[in-house]
Amino acid sequence: MGRHPVYIWNVEGYDVDRIREVVGRSMDEMGLRLGKRVLVKHNTVISHPTLFRHAFTRSEFLDGVLGALTSRVSSETMEIAVGERCGITIPTRFAFRNAGYLPVIEKHQAKTYYFEEERPTEVRLRGKERLRDAIYTPEPMVRTDFLVNCPKFKSHPWTGVTFALKNFIGIQDDAHRLVDHDFALNEKIADLQEIVSPSLIAIDAVIGGMGRMLVPEPVTLNLVICGVNPVAVDATCCRIAGIDPESIDHVRICSERGLGPLDEASIDVRGDVELEEAQDRARAITNPMTPVSRFFEATSLKARAGPPPDEKGSDYCWGGCPGCVQEAIDIHKAFTPDVYQRIQPMHLVYGDCRGQDITTRRGERVMFFGDCVRFDGKINGKRVVIESSYVERHRKDTHTIRAEDLVHKTIKSYVTAFLAWPRSWVHVKGCPVSVAEHVLMMAIFGRIKNVYFDPRVVFMFGWTWLVSNGVRLGRWLTGRLGRKRLPARSH
Ligand code: SF4
Repeated sequence: MGRHPVYIWNVEGYDVDRIREVVGRSMDEMGLRLGKRVLVKHNTVISHPTLFRHAFTRSEFLDGVLGALTSRVSSETMEIAVGERCGITIPTRFAFRNAGYLPVIEKHQAKTYYFEEERPTEVRLRGKERLRDAIYTPEPMVRTDFLVNCPKFKSHPWTGVTFALKNFIGIQDDAHRLVDHDFALNEKIADLQEIVSPSLIAIDAVIGGMGRMLVPEPVTLNLVICGVNPVAVDATCCRIAGIDPESIDHVRICSERGLGPLDEASIDVRGDVELEEAQDRARAITNPMTPVSRFFEATSLKARAGPPPDEKGSDYCWGGCPGCVQEAIDIHKAFTPDVYQRIQPMHLVYGDCRGQDITTRRGERVMFFGDCVRFDGKINGKRVVIESSYVERHRKDTHTIRAEDLVHKTIKSYVTAFLAWPRSWVHVKGCPVSVAEHVLMMAIFGRIKNVYFDPRVVFMFGWTWLVSNGVRLGRWLTGRLGRKRLPARSH
C-alpha cells in the first residue's frame, strides 16, 4: 500500500471560497467521487456565539465543505446531508441554531439529521480487542456511502486531542454515548471506527482550540487539513500540535488495530504549508490532561481521585467522572466568570479512596461521584463508609439501556440533594456521572445559578427541546424511532 496523503493548506481566516477551493483540490487530487448518500459529520459538542465560541466546527467552514461537495455531485448522488449529536442533554437543534448552520444548510439544499431523533441501529463489531460485540449508531451513519468527517482542531482534557478519530463520539444516541465513557474511552473510540470509514476528512484548523473541550482558548492557525485515513490525519495533527502521536492512546490503539499508520514515512504530507510551518503556528498548544486534584488547586474546591475498577490497573479514570466535573465548572464559568468566588466550598471524591480521612472547612460539603467511588474513613472525625455499586462492563446490557434527558436529570439531582441535605456528604451515582449532572449538583450545593435557566439560553433551549421531543414522539408513535436490532449471531 502507498503512503497516505494528508494535505495541510493555508487559509486567511474563515474565507468560505478558499475553504471550498482547498477541500475541492484535495478531493480531486485524491480522486474522490461522491457516493449516493453523502453525510457531513462535523463537531458541535456545544455552541453559542458568545458563551462557547471556539468549541465547534464553524459555519463558514461547513459552508466551504458543502460548496466543494455540491459542485462535485454526480448523477448517482441522491442526498447531501449534515448530521451530528451534540453534547448530550442539549438538543442538537439548539446547537445547530447557535452555530449558525441553518442558513448554510439551506443555501446548499442539504438535508439535516439530528442524530438523537434518528433510529438507533445496531452494528456488529469484529475487532479482536473490541469492548462489546455490537454498538448502536443513528441510521444515517449506516446508510451513508460517503462520510465527510469535519472535526474542529482541538487539544482535549480527557484524551489529549480531538481530531478525526475522537469526532466519532458524536455518532451515538444519548442512551449509548455514555456507555464505556470511562477509563476505556480510548478503546471505545477505536470501536466506533468500525461503524464506517470516512471517505473524506476536512479539519477546521482555522482557529484551533486549546486546553478545554467546551471553552477552549482560541489559537489562530489559519489551516485546513484534509485526508482520508483518520489515523494518518490524526498523527499529522498531533505532530502539528507538537504532541507525539504514540502518546495519544486512542490514536495509538487505532493504529495498533490496523486502521492506519503513525510513522511519518508512511504519510505523504502535501498541500501548500510545510509541516514545520504548521508546527510553528501551533506552538502555543500543549497537552491539557490534568488530574482533577491538581485542576482545582488554588480554588475554593478540593478534589481527590483514587483508581477506578480497571482490571488493567489504570490509576485514574480519564474518560469518566473526573473529566465531567472539569467541564461542568467550565460551563458555570462561561455563565458566571467569577464562579470560584461565588461557589460554596466543596470536596469532590472519585474512585477508590478508602483509608483517607477528610476534614472539611466551614460550610464545605463532601460529594462522592460515580458508581465506583469507595470510601471508608472519617469525615470530621465521624466514620463514613461508601460501598462501590459499579457494574462490570460485560454485565451491562446495551440493548435495554435508556437515555435520561435533562428534565429527568434535573428531577433526579434535586431529589438526591433533598435526601442528602441534612448530611455533610452526598453520593451521586452513575457511570459516568454526566457533565449535566455535575452542572446541576454544583449549582444546588454550590448555591450558584442553574445555568439552564439563564435568559441567554433558556428560551431557545426550551423551544428546541419541545420541538425535538415532539419529533421523537411522532417518530416513536409511527414506529420510526424503535431500535433496529440485528438477529443473534449463529455460532
Ligand atoms: S463511575 Fe465514574 S470514575 Fe468510576 S469508572 Fe465509572 S466513569 Fe469512571
